[in-house]
This record gives sequence, C-alpha cells and structure tokens, in this order.
Amino acid sequence: MRHIPFLDLGNQYLSIKSEVDAAIESVIRDSAFIKGKYVESFERNFAEYIGVKNCVGVGNGTDAIFISLKCLGVGGGDEIIVPANSFIATSEAVTLAGATPIFVDCNEYYNIEAEKIEQSITSKTKAIIAVHLYGQPADMDAILDIAKRHNLFVIEDAAQAHGAEYKGRKPGSFGICATFSFYPGKNLGAYGDAGAIVTNDDTLAGKIRMFANHGRVDKYDHKFEGINSRLDGLQAAILDVKLRHLDAWVEQRRSAAGIYDEGLRDAVVTPRVLSQAKHAYHLYVVQVEGRDKVRELLKERGIETGIHYPIPLPFLEAYRRFGYAPENFPVAAEYAKSVLSLPMHEGLTEDDQECIIAAVLKASGNKD
Ligand SMILES: *Cc1c(COP(=O)(O)O)cnc(C)c1O
Repeated sequence: MRHIPFLDLGNQYLSIKSEVDAAIESVIRDSAFIKGKYVESFERNFAEYIGVKNCVGVGNGTDAIFISLKCLGVGGGDEIIVPANSFIATSEAVTLAGATPIFVDCNEYYNIEAEKIEQSITSKTKAIIAVHLYGQPADMDAILDIAKRHNLFVIEDAAQAHGAEYKGRKPGSFGICATFSFYPGKNLGAYGDAGAIVTNDDTLAGKIRMFANHGRVDKYDHKFEGINSRLDGLQAAILDVKLRHLDAWVEQRRSAAGIYDEGLRDAVVTPRVLSQAKHAYHLYVVQVEGRDKVRELLKERGIETGIHYPIPLPFLEAYRRFGYAPENFPVAAEYAKSVLSLPMHEGLTEDDQECIIAAVLKASGNKD
C-alpha cells in the first residue's frame, strides 16, 4: 500500500547529503563541539536572515522562552499572557520562570485573539508571548499596540515560523526578542535539539548569552548563576547548511498549500491567511466535520496526519489547578474538536497531494 508520511526528513537529508556530511566532518575534525566558529557562523547568518542585530544559540526552543523571561526580569508574582492554543512549551517556560501563565482564546487564524488580551491584563502582567502558530504570524500590530499602552514586553515564540513574513519583515524582529526552536521537525530543523533567541537589544543579548552559559564572562568568571543551555557545534553547522535552503523549502510549502486550498475548499475549512502576512505552513491545518473518522479513513489509505492540538493548553491535566472550563476558551475548545493537520513538507509531490485530496473529499462525504 502507498504510504504518505506527515514529514519526510530522510528524503530531505538525501537532497543535501554532501553538504551536511561535509559540515559534520569539519566540526569533528576541528573539535568545535561547544561554542566556536560553527556556532558563531550560524548565529551571524540567522540574525542576518531574520533582520536583527543579535542571535544567541541555545539548547532548544523551550529554554529559549525560559531564558528570555528570566533575562527580562520575569519572576514570582508576575503574570504572562499566552495563547490558549499552542504547544505546552509556551506556558511551561512561564511557570518554570516562577510566573503565572494567563491564557487568552484564539481567533479564526488560530493565533491569540488580540481583542481578548486587554481584559486579561492586570497590575501583575509583565509580558505577552505572541506565538506565530502553524507558521502564520500573530496579529502583531494590534499586539504591539496593546503592549505599548500597558508597558508590557512582547516575546515572539517563533518556533513554528521560520520563513514567515508580516508586512514584509520576518517574525523575530517585532518583539523585544523572539525565540526559535530547531527541533528536527520544524521548518528549519537540526539533527537533535537546538534553539535560538534573536533580539535587537544588545544589552539583553549580552545577558542572554551569559545566562545560557552559567552566567560566565570567562571560563571561571561567573557574574551570576545561569544555566547550561548552548547550541552545539554539530547542530549549528547542520543548521547553517539548511538555512541556505530554507526560503526555497518554504516556497515549496506555499505551493503545496495552494494546491490543498484549491482542492479542498468545498470540503473543509482551509487555513485563512492574514492579508499582511505570508504563511510559512509549518503545519497545514484544516477543520473538518467528523474529524476522527476522516483521520481513520486517511490512515487506512496510508496517509499520516496530525492533530495540533487535541487539548488546548488551559484544559490539560497539567493546568487542572486553574479549573478552566470550555466556556472560558470557547473558540479553542471548538477548534480542538475539528482540526486536522495534513502532510506538509517541501518534498510533498503533486501525486501525493492528489491522493490526499481525493481521500479527504471521499472521507468528508463530498465525493466518491
Ligand atoms: C516546538 C515548539 C516549542 C519548543 O521547542 P523545543 O525546541 O521542542 O523545546 C515552543 N513553542 C512552540 C509553539 C513550538 O511549536
């Protein structure tokens, strides 16, 4: 039977094998495992790609959020606004920093509903974490405006948004800082855990660099206690290779999204895109009636799908202490029942897509 994977990292590797193998060999030959020139090179190239002054490589995308919060002075008693619809890393980092996540419902773009942010702001609020979910930038103008009026930091969680754009600029250059994950399955993925923080604020960048490396300025000169969360040389060298292909890969994702939009328009709710945004389609998420049955039928035809996310953050067991009910986040609660993520990667063929579209049409009762 035909098998259509959700993601195909093996195939991607084969398409850049000689470049990746050479990069890995160089790092090992130079013993540049921690810090060093490969990390510096990627940090420079990624900052330039995003269009910001500084990039600090860290261990992963969750640490990137935690480190940002700590270096902005967030701690006990503070409240941080986060979207109800995201991966747990967003709110987990808030709790880890000693603060309390305050969830806000999502809009029809699956991102935080800016109009519902203000009613959640209190005297304890310190920051808003704007997640660019599925690869689509959040409503940054509205969010930045609210933050300015209430004197709050905006941190962009851009873990899913490598290659996206908002008003011609890359996510990562709007907030005080932005965090990236290079988890293997992201649009720009390492071959293990990796992450980064980008910022135009030189002082903040310096503090982040120290905090992520034991608060040190020199080998045994520690100005304060930090943590060990560093981007390693092998991952940096691999990311530097992949960064050169990122824009072309994101364009391929956009073409694939166009084909899905066209073929599925009458059967499901296809992704809506903000007029001022360019979606990077980390995930292609539709809403479909009878989602679980549709998913089962696709599986029978060898088509892998995902659900992002089956349980909105406020309703997770991890947050039972807050006692939230579906009516507190009606949009997120509703979407969780019908969202389905279809296979999406730069190697998806038109043949695969034809197969997927036909299966979705059949499963959703629109065609035999
Ligand atoms: C993947 C992801 C993270 C966490 O990144 P890791 O590198 O896995 O720690 C954070 N936020 C969002 C929205 C993500 O999708």
